[in-house]
Amino acid sequence: MKIPLVDLSAQYAVLGAEIDAALKGACERSQFILGPAVESFEAGFAGFTGTKFCAAVNSGTSALHLALIAAGVRPGDEVVCPTWTFIATIEAVLYAGAIPVLTDVDERTYCMTPEAFSAAITPKTKAVIPVHIYGYPCRMDEIMRIANERGIAVVEDAAQAHGASYAGKPAGSFGKAGCFSFYPSKNLGAFGEGGAIVSDDADFIAKVKRLRSHGESERYIHAELGFNMRMCGFQGAILGVKLPHIAGWNDKRREAGAMYRKALADTPLTLPPEDGDKERQVYHLFVVRAPKRDELREFLTSKGVGTAIHYLKPSHKQPMWTGLFGEHPLLPVSEKLAEEILSLPMYPELGAEQIEYIAGCVREFYS
Ligand SMILES: *Cc1c(COP(=O)(O)O)cnc(C)c1O
Repeated sequence: MKIPLVDLSAQYAVLGAEIDAALKGACERSQFILGPAVESFEAGFAGFTGTKFCAAVNSGTSALHLALIAAGVRPGDEVVCPTWTFIATIEAVLYAGAIPVLTDVDERTYCMTPEAFSAAITPKTKAVIPVHIYGYPCRMDEIMRIANERGIAVVEDAAQAHGASYAGKPAGSFGKAGCFSFYPSKNLGAFGEGGAIVSDDADFIAKVKRLRSHGESERYIHAELGFNMRMCGFQGAILGVKLPHIAGWNDKRREAGAMYRKALADTPLTLPPEDGDKERQVYHLFVVRAPKRDELREFLTSKGVGTAIHYLKPSHKQPMWTGLFGEHPLLPVSEKLAEEILSLPMYPELGAEQIEYIAGCVREFYS
């Protein structure tokens, strides 16, 4: 059996006609940059994340970059981030001219803990970026309490967590800003690059909207140094068609997650964290920790099962980091994770038969 890590064609097979019509409409109306389809998606996505406002941009990386600038992060400021994340989190801090202060993560949830955040605060700390990694929400009540006490801006990296929630409140709705990616393989994916910033603060979103479009306050008046980070019209049209389905797709991911748990219970794998009392996850990825990881990966490949390693190195071990800053002190959990983690196939259309097959392969490997 051949099972890909993600199957991007499955959704087009179902929504193809609607997507084609939305694209044709955008072509006919020449809505190539921003425009009504993007605006209507922004309104819908703010609703989905339980926030008041949304600004659509050209990637999740841009979303983080602009959110940090709009939150007042300036060169020399410190921004606390988990080392265990996709590198874009760290890049965005550096683009803003600020200094990423890296923390280790929780051994069970792989998220930055409130304790690690608290310990990393200095008088220079301007912002913190909790990353809801793999679609599992960070402990946002405590993170918000600490940040509010110290006057630190919270910019959530929810690029993997569309629809996750903590204590019933959506990921991305806690801080000053929630940043999302619509990279094609994310839980809500565009057919190209895309991202969004959500917030309850009208002035903040107005600032982000200026920044994404050359700092324009009115046509050809450039009030501040901005960027070209607008969402393209086609992506807004496609995302508008997909948005009504994201909740159902997340439910399917959660069902697949539950099936995996049963099927893999008697294997030596460490499974992803269960939902907590407050945490509702959306399984952007299904990440296990595996003894003899590299051999297992090879074996699964030989059996037609697609896998990946998210991520090969924690941020502080990346050549980019060591090239800029030299060796970083040990962050033991993340360094251990890099040697053990393996992402198994996960997408809404993944069925019971496929999960049984994958679990059978895993058992065969360890027996
Ligand atoms: C995907 C991702 C990003 C960046 O999003 P792009 O749209 O690819 O720029 C940032 N942070 C995390 C955690 C991600 O997974």
